[in-house]
Amino acid sequence: MAAGKELEEIKQALKANRLFITVESGFQKMISANCPKDGAIATVHTTYTTRGAAGPEITGVRFRCTVCGHTFTPKLEEMVLR
Ligand SMILES: [Zn+2]
Repeated sequence: MAAGKELEEIKQALKANRLFITVESGFQKMISANCPKDGAIATVHTTYTTRGAAGPEITGVRFRCTVCGHTFTPKLEEMVLR
């Protein structure tokens, strides 16, 4: 579950139409989520964008579980960086 700084980083990345953040060391962390059914890692399936004041913004991300194939749209707080 994302909270505090991580949640803020996820919000800012999506607002900038990105699905990753770059940390100080230069590595990139991808926005990810865990399957609500089995807790396995899910990968991005579809993104929903709208045009914001500064360009396109991601307003929703649909994920697909790599184990069971379940697709789901988590809340921001349910996304994680990995
Ligand atoms: Zn699953």
